Amino acid sequence: MSYDPNNIFAKIIRGEAPCVKVYEDEHTFVMMDIMPQAEGHTLVLTKEPAEMIYDLSPEAAAACIQTTQRVAKAVRKALQPDGMMIAQFNGAAGGQTVFHVHFHILPRSNDTKMKPHAREMVDPATLQPLAERIRAALDEV
Ligand code: AMP
Repeated sequence: MSYDPNNIFAKIIRGEAPCVKVYEDEHTFVMMDIMPQAEGHTLVLTKEPAEMIYDLSPEAAAACIQTTQRVAKAVRKALQPDGMMIAQFNGAAGGQTVFHVHFHILPRSNDTKMKPHAREMVDPATLQPLAERIRAALDEV
């Protein structure tokens, strides 16, 4: 499969579709997952037109992991979870549902089970306060 420039994440990065945005820089774009598997589930998108991890340039791959680390630190500071899961899926068989490279930042708690992947959509308004807390913490990490 070749990269589809009209996939939903490409549209979000171009400002053609809505999202609850947290942060963006030259190489990456960060937003709240609209079907969160846990409170604070955040996505780091590359700005490169790359379908899977194999397609990323070394520079884009480096930028993704640097932003993922920084946002994970901010999510930890803002929400103080017991643990943090970082995930990245490739191909439908690998669990990928949006074919534009992105990293999942998933805060985990000892006593709450993670919800199923890409299943239950929430009202974006409920994600705004979380995005604000993470954004504020980004300035301090
Ligand atoms: P993956 O299965 O790794 O490709 O993950 C795609 C993720 O994107 C899932 O966790 C979905 O809940 C999430 N998602 C899909 N569409 C949107 C959207 N419009 N805004 C924010 N998150 C989305």
